[in-house]
Amino acid sequence: MSTGTRYFVGVDVGGTNLRAAVWDADAERLLAVQYVPTLSHAGHAAVLARLAGLIREAIAAAGLTLDQVRAVGVGLPGRLRPAEGVVEFLPNLVGHWVGVQAGEVLTAALGRPVHLINDARAMTFGEWKYGAGRGVDTLACLTLGTGIGGGVVVNGQLLWGVNGTLGEIGHQIVEADGLPCTCGGRGCLEVYASGTAIAAAGARAIREGRSATLRDMAEDDPTRVTADMVARAAQSGDATAQAIFERAGLYLGIVISNVVLTINPQRVILGGGMAGVGELIFAPARRTLRERVHLAPVDHIEIVPAQLGADAGLIGAAAWAKWSGIRA
Ligand SMILES: [Zn+2]
Repeated sequence: MSTGTRYFVGVDVGGTNLRAAVWDADAERLLAVQYVPTLSHAGHAAVLARLAGLIREAIAAAGLTLDQVRAVGVGLPGRLRPAEGVVEFLPNLVGHWVGVQAGEVLTAALGRPVHLINDARAMTFGEWKYGAGRGVDTLACLTLGTGIGGGVVVNGQLLWGVNGTLGEIGHQIVEADGLPCTCGGRGCLEVYASGTAIAAAGARAIREGRSATLRDMAEDDPTRVTADMVARAAQSGDATAQAIFERAGLYLGIVISNVVLTINPQRVILGGGMAGVGELIFAPARRTLRERVHLAPVDHIEIVPAQLGADAGLIGAAAWAKWSGIRA
């Protein structure tokens, strides 16, 4: 009996790096995480070829061979047709990705089944099965990073919608005439509460002379402001920086309220870099939920940080490959 049934590969395609690792589903742990720069300007064919090479490297580094791997799960940052293995729209990767048969290309290169999944849905699935979502059957997950992704599990199922497009919580519209968003819409949560949005608000505060702390941290150059810098300024007591997080937390709380009114989860999981600032953003989000929602019970809802950190996408994609195999 081969040990081929317990190993899967999880892949995370990011704008900056491609990451791949072997997932030991029995031991519930990642082996041999490997990464290379995405270099998406080289085009989709080059990226997919490098990705296939990276997957082979991860398998070799784990001391395994390809035929010991049951399936590969690939998390991609955008819209897909997962059943057909086709990419529809990757807003953060340059190059022409529309209609690219990524699943077929990788299956041909590796000779193993390949399952595509949106990266935020992969993270949601990973947190549910192995992280902060263990033990509950209805949850929502948001990743607050450069952008904001999401996913929902309801009554023990990752909700999928049409082609896995259900769960774009970060693009819920919170301002009717709001700022334009990378998705092509306007007024999305992402333009008010992502790391990019926090950094932009910090830069604006410097230009308008509202924060000496931030101005000093950025050495008088608004283009150098990062979300981490705004968090540090807020933690050191800077009122302007605190107000930036208060505002982002309010918008986040509004979106969580809308999610609660739709699926009333036991738990809301917040991951990504911005969730790392903790109470700066959790406190106003919790307060908004309690103040605004009355028609659904909210006292039981836990708003908690994600547990799997940077590995959530890898674990989720691998776990998805496992569950997809089981369902098929
Ligand atoms: Zn949007």
